[in-house]
Amino acid sequence: MSVGGWRLAVCGSALAVPALVAACSGTPSEKQRAPAAERPSILLITLDTTRADAIGPEARGVETPAFNAIAARGLRFRQAYAAVPETLPSHATMLTGVYPAGHQVHENARYLPASIPTIAERLAQAGYRTAAFVSSFALSRRFGLARGFESYDETFANGQSERSARETTDAVLAQLSADTAAKPLFLWVHYYDPHAPYTPPEPFRTKFAGTPYLGEVAAMDEQVGRLVQAFAQRARGPAAIAIAADHGEGLGDHGETFHGNLVYQSTMHVPMAIAGPGVTPGVSDVPVSTRRVFFTLLDWAGLGGEHSLRSNREESVLGEGMKPFLEYGWQPQTMTVAGRYKAILSGRLETYDLAADPGETHDLGSGLSLPAGVRKELEDYPVPSREAARAPANLDEESKRRLASLGYVSAGAAPVVRRDAPRPADMTALFASIDKASGLFVNKAYAEVIPLLEQILAKDPHNLDAALRLAASHSALGHNPQALAAFQRAAAIAPSSQDVRTYLGLHYARAQDWDRAAALLEQVVTESPDRATAVEALADVRVHQGEAAMDEGKTEAAIAAFERARTLQPSAFTHDLDLGVLYLAARRFEDARQALDRVLAAHPDDAMALFKRAQVSVLLNEPDRRERIDAAKKRADAVTRPLIERERLFK
Ligand SMILES: [Zn+2]
Repeated sequence: MSVGGWRLAVCGSALAVPALVAACSGTPSEKQRAPAAERPSILLITLDTTRADAIGPEARGVETPAFNAIAARGLRFRQAYAAVPETLPSHATMLTGVYPAGHQVHENARYLPASIPTIAERLAQAGYRTAAFVSSFALSRRFGLARGFESYDETFANGQSERSARETTDAVLAQLSADTAAKPLFLWVHYYDPHAPYTPPEPFRTKFAGTPYLGEVAAMDEQVGRLVQAFAQRARGPAAIAIAADHGEGLGDHGETFHGNLVYQSTMHVPMAIAGPGVTPGVSDVPVSTRRVFFTLLDWAGLGGEHSLRSNREESVLGEGMKPFLEYGWQPQTMTVAGRYKAILSGRLETYDLAADPGETHDLGSGLSLPAGVRKELEDYPVPSREAARAPANLDEESKRRLASLGYVSAGAAPVVRRDAPRPADMTALFASIDKASGLFVNKAYAEVIPLLEQILAKDPHNLDAALRLAASHSALGHNPQALAAFQRAAAIAPSSQDVRTYLGLHYARAQDWDRAAALLEQVVTESPDRATAVEALADVRVHQGEAAMDEGKTEAAIAAFERARTLQPSAFTHDLDLGVLYLAARRFEDARQALDRVLAAHPDDAMALFKRAQVSVLLNEPDRRERIDAAKKRADAVTRPLIERERLFK
């Protein structure tokens, strides 16, 4: 039945809310037909940092009616797993259907390769309108997930790097009310509230004073309700919803406060439900990966049903936690869930019987005989290569600062694979120190961070990230001998590391040792021309070299240095006037003309540029040389006036 332009579900007690489902239970005839006009509009809701036990009808300590309503109308998965306990890689998996080993985004601040098709591209090609609203800079379009979306809203107020579920929902509702297209819509909405810090709005702040994390979840759930209602109105026909978390939150389990370092249930086990055409309502205990969201959406759009969650087919679920490996050189972590058993491979094998021990308190070690195929999948799961891990998104300093403001900090050091690497699960005592050190470092509290980094290195001597930060901190404080000693230590950990060379290059630049800085940074830029930090620093160093050479009257050296700076960062180059003067001195009149024209394009009244340009004009015998001399005279200032009067070329 259809009321006010949208359909109502008429099964069970689901009449309370506008319907999101065309059919209450799997109606085979409907799902097989799926003519174009009947394809449902699709809403994908992703919940950041939401534990499986913090939302849904079985949640403890919080009520989440909006999530529960979706689950009641559809199929709720009690054993759903994130692929990675971090925002960007987990979303990359949901939106592409492949594990990180396939799409290569193992951490935040990486870039989804253009070769991997996204769900938005597939649905757009199939005639869907596509729109996304994200609530954190961690999912900014610069990381590659916007591909295929007609609109990708990441509007954060006042330089913030995140927004609340209410703000995001307001933005979605404004766009939905303006959207009158007849095409089916694919809408992805990402909520970020439960991510630390836990600061729920009222009335949730008061109500959840002792458990603010749950207060954030409750506040987010309220917005899920508003969103679902508005979406149902826009759909004007069949509608489908998938809702899942990108990962959970440690909250102290296994020694982890936040997420990203371990692969236990607190962060890998996530809430997930689907409701829509052909979905048989119920609850599933089959272990599934959130990567199947991709296939489920394709299925709804009539683009193939393999791996769709609608089929509820069993598979061995895989997951990974490579951040400690990539950042600190600790053991890589891979995990699998098959049936009731979970195995984690990280240096050694841990196994758990989740049915008997959902909190993973009793490690069955290798004593549990996993099915042969499952164990092989775990062992075969590829650990990212150093090369792959060296391809971060090309981040400028502003992006790094914004990520840091969300708690994502990385020195970007390439991983060092070593046999004696510690297991992340054995290093939890260091997590708090590492987090604290990251915060201090990003806030430039170098004097405070140094003793903390020394402590970390005392316990984890091969931690390249800590060694580099220690060196950079000493460097920033002008402690040259200590900085050089720390750089040597970092170089001993990772002899061929580009990071060590980059940061040492930055150190020499800070100490105004331009030649040493340039030599190191040129090496890095030659190997990795996209490495923004090194490119920016090298351009700056080359400018300083150019200025120094000018002061010493070394025209050719000055030209070479400025030209290099300009090639590295054309848009940031501000020394065209110097370059024009130098070219003129070197009697390279045509080059001088071009350099001075660039100055005048930006600053048409610059007295010195007009004077120099007039000289060049005479030397090149240009037809408008007379006008240029007049212009130089007209705009002359105290510096150029006597020069013009004395200039024999102008006579
Ligand atoms: Zn996240």
